[in-house]
Amino acid sequence: MTGYDVDPCMKCEEMLQPFLDRELTEAERVEAEAHLARCSYCSKRYRFEVELRRLVRQAAIVQMAPELKQRLAALRTPLN
Ligand SMILES: [Zn+2]
Repeated sequence: MTGYDVDPCMKCEEMLQPFLDRELTEAERVEAEAHLARCSYCSKRYRFEVELRRLVRQAAIVQMAPELKQRLAALRTPLN
């Protein structure tokens, strides 16, 4: 492993969040995708992150819903 300055998995891990946020440059995105395609460790991490984000988004919607409903109800009900 001498002469190998950057661990590709460590680099991939660093790029994972900006990759999911679509903040990477085209070149970085291609590099991350190429690594994910051939590295089972990072592709597992990637799938986990995707699933986690999906659940967090769902939870946020569920938490927001009652408040939104209340606000809508308040708009519908005339205040006196
Ligand atoms: Zn990897």
